[in-house]
Amino acid sequence: MLFSEAKDVVSAAFALRETNPGVYGGSWSDGSDAQILECFSPINGAPLGRVTEAGAGDLAEVAGRSLSAAAAWAEVPAPKRGEIVAEIGRELAMWKNELGLLVSIEAGKTLSEGQGEVQEMIDLAGFAAGLSRQLYGLTIASERPHHRMYEQWHPLGAVAVITSFNFPCAVWSWNAFIAAVVGDAVIWKPSSRTPLTAIAVTRLVGRVMERHSLPPVFSLLVGGGGGVGNALLEDPRLSMVSFTGSVATGKKVAEVVSQRLGRTLLELGGNNGVIVSDKADLDMALKGVAFGALATAGQRCTSTRRLLLHENVYSGLLERLVRAYQHVRVGDPLLAETLVGPLIDEGAVETYLEAVRRAVDQGGRLVCGGTRASVPGCEGGHYVLPAIIEADPAMDIVREETFGPLLYVLRYRDLQEACALHNAVPQGLSSALFTRDLREEEYFLSHRGSDCGLANINTSTAGAEIGGAFGGEKDTGGGRESGSDAWKAYARRQTVSINHGADLPLAQGVRFEIA
Ligand code: NAD
Repeated sequence: MLFSEAKDVVSAAFALRETNPGVYGGSWSDGSDAQILECFSPINGAPLGRVTEAGAGDLAEVAGRSLSAAAAWAEVPAPKRGEIVAEIGRELAMWKNELGLLVSIEAGKTLSEGQGEVQEMIDLAGFAAGLSRQLYGLTIASERPHHRMYEQWHPLGAVAVITSFNFPCAVWSWNAFIAAVVGDAVIWKPSSRTPLTAIAVTRLVGRVMERHSLPPVFSLLVGGGGGVGNALLEDPRLSMVSFTGSVATGKKVAEVVSQRLGRTLLELGGNNGVIVSDKADLDMALKGVAFGALATAGQRCTSTRRLLLHENVYSGLLERLVRAYQHVRVGDPLLAETLVGPLIDEGAVETYLEAVRRAVDQGGRLVCGGTRASVPGCEGGHYVLPAIIEADPAMDIVREETFGPLLYVLRYRDLQEACALHNAVPQGLSSALFTRDLREEEYFLSHRGSDCGLANINTSTAGAEIGGAFGGEKDTGGGRESGSDAWKAYARRQTVSINHGADLPLAQGVRFEIA
């Protein structure tokens, strides 16, 4: 598809204009600070539109409305909230093609990945709707006679969701749909690099809410991290801040929110390793590694950045991987045959090239790629050739997350050594082992194996399903979003004790007699 065609399709579908209001709290308005955000496509640098940024004044207004919305929304029975979220899923499904295209032109994802991102939201809506009938609490055996104990989960009220550029809408849905069925209202601050997708999603969601005359449960504030982003962190009305982004920003978020004893849910950077054993299905491993390292041009939190190869398969698999890289098409993500699109902006290209230089300076051997790529017809775009670097675990840079298609290859002799190498980085998001050996698989999954939030056997570090709790350990922040019982992060737990007897027995047999 041609870029100009795609731009016309999305502009018409979502009523995007040259300048768009960046504040939604039941109605759209321009940001009060009159700051303008210019949006460009990473595909070719073409302008996509402008957005008026929200300021602190807008937050004051929207947070107030969100709190009232949360109070009204909490009165709606959870399964009814689930029905609304299911309807939002159907609305998104009706606009899947257009929204997927917008993700592609704004974030530079391939057509298939853009559509996949919207599908993830649709799946999440279905999951959340089912969950709305399963917000279970435990009953607990009481030690006191004629007492009953149980726990129940109440909504938190208004929560903030701050998202990264690389999943311009799916990450919001992991949080927002779950928080909504629990009974919270959500204020979304998307990345300033992908605000148009957020505006389009909020328009679709707003339509459903307005159709049912519901209050603004889903609000939007487009603005920079230092401005409205920081103000969100400081606002005591927002009981929880769910933050997805880099480790460096996440640390600031944790510090500011914890100062006011607010809750955080942190989904930060990864530095994900794949171990390929000499007992692996090597064809499968090759595909899994290539997908993990190259999809979304290496700009996934779960991208494969480190490849640990058993010494018996090291040369053979590395050679095959290099050949595969040479056949991968880097270019315009709107063309069906493209597998690797652009990086998000010029800054990302510079960071990538600098990381390659540093890796070589530290003793790494650049096997392929690692340079800019020129793509005819996309001259203003931000393309690089994916790099493979033979590395040494002592190299500092191997411990860092570089957000681009950069793969460090390391050699190991036995699985114990591989797991130690694998875990010797600050991040702990996703991990994988390719093997057909049951003992190896079990070792990797034991407490001695992977220290990550996600452990995969014979599949890629990237491409998680929504049904599992998603997130990681160590510098990745410890948060869990999306499936399983991750919903509990958006709720407050209340332990209830009811005495239905005629006496007042005390716990632990404590005696307290008053005359
Ligand atoms: P980033 O940290 O630059 O920005 C993330 C968000 O934080 C943006 O919305 C930004 O505007 C906002 N922000 C920046 N400064 C802020 C401040 N002081 N206060 C409040 N908000 C502020 O990250 P990015 O470049 O957009 O995204 C890439 C990073 O996100 C990578 O490290 C990637 O691994 C990580 N990520 C993690 C997950 C996960 O689930 N673990 C998922 C996706 C991305």
